[in-house]
Amino acid sequence: MFATKPGPGKQTTTSAPDLDESSDKSMLTPDDMMSHAHKTDITIGTPEGADWVNQMNEGFRAHQLSPSSWSRYEQCPRKYWLSRQRLPRKASMPAALGNAVHNSVEDICNLDIDDRDDEEVGWMPPTAKAILDRHWKIEKEGFMATPRHPRWKDELITQAHDGLVGALNILCSKSLLPQTRLSELTISDWKYVQSIVLANEGTLVSECGRLMGRLDLLVADLEENGQSKGWIVADLKTGRPPVGALDPKVSRQLRFYRDLLKRNNPDHPPIRAEGWYSANQTIHEATGDNVIDEAFVAWEGMRPSSQPLEATPGERTCGFCEWKAWCPVWWNATAEGILPSSGAFRDEVVRIIRYDSEGGAGLIERMAPVDESGNVSPSPKRFGFTVKDQAKYQLDELISDGYEGILFIGSARVSSKVLHLGDWSEIIPWQPILESSTPV
Ligand code: SF4
Repeated sequence: MFATKPGPGKQTTTSAPDLDESSDKSMLTPDDMMSHAHKTDITIGTPEGADWVNQMNEGFRAHQLSPSSWSRYEQCPRKYWLSRQRLPRKASMPAALGNAVHNSVEDICNLDIDDRDDEEVGWMPPTAKAILDRHWKIEKEGFMATPRHPRWKDELITQAHDGLVGALNILCSKSLLPQTRLSELTISDWKYVQSIVLANEGTLVSECGRLMGRLDLLVADLEENGQSKGWIVADLKTGRPPVGALDPKVSRQLRFYRDLLKRNNPDHPPIRAEGWYSANQTIHEATGDNVIDEAFVAWEGMRPSSQPLEATPGERTCGFCEWKAWCPVWWNATAEGILPSSGAFRDEVVRIIRYDSEGGAGLIERMAPVDESGNVSPSPKRFGFTVKDQAKYQLDELISDGYEGILFIGSARVSSKVLHLGDWSEIIPWQPILESSTPV
């Protein structure tokens, strides 16, 4: 196994290939290729002495806008507000898979191969697999230790492996190597690829400290002759690739990184922002207006508040919201017919009428909302239910803890008027929050 060394992205500044360097890569030795003259400092984090650093030293901490919190705020301000209330988070398989791939790419970019034989081949596939296996294990442990988790899908490691290979292939293609088959990569080839990686997994922060984002990769943008003509800020995407244009939210996220990098580096060369989709190894460039002013406007609305922010329920927004057990608005909207109450999978607010833990079945009653505070009352709607696996563990645990209150049931599968609960569902207390004691 190779050792890894800290990537430049871990530091506040790193260096870029000199833009004036003229070279023809085919004419260079490996040592030459490693010698991209390092003359341009790149500010990834916050310049020392920035205002917000001093303010933090005095105990002040500003809230920060990241592309994901911005997107959450835009979907539904209440969703954003709830995400800041230190509630138990829900683990997800796509997030775990993405983390495993991202962290593996980072480690492979930081491999310490200085004393390896430059001509060695066949080392990358087993090295990448060993690194991915290690991160897969770490993700699995974190996932299983999260109380709100669905079933862990070990079989998805194949998809993670394909994603890692896809990401490495894209990175090799950016280095303009004559071939990019991982099994044929020499140590010398990889040293060259490492030399075009200017930063990986760095934290981008605006000088005022209000805007921040996690940058996956910053690489030199090479011309055909190997000369650097600028920077590429790349975000690795392990999800479904776009058909046609980039999703507007993804485009904005990529431009956010681009524009923050420009703001932090007044003497920057041309910068491209790209989404690298590992599943089909396609690259999508985000182009368009600067988004920083827009981000500052959103930052204003995201200030910490003891009162809940406005809720904007919607079928898709609420469908993917992990905070429903704390939000009375969606349940009222469901009762009023604003949100659908039918479908193959359903969320409910219920009380248990009968439950046979041994048989894993019982009877529940849907609770009707009575006000905007999340108070509920009995209704005539009753359903049989079956429960197993993770959902049964959660229910039995609540009962053994003496909990007798109202329950939120997430993602119950409906068939013949019976609700089926299992690894795909969750059962947690219904606890609407109407005020935050410690606004964050
Ligand atoms: S459940 Fe719907 S309305 Fe409530 S916070 Fe989530 S997205 Fe907003």
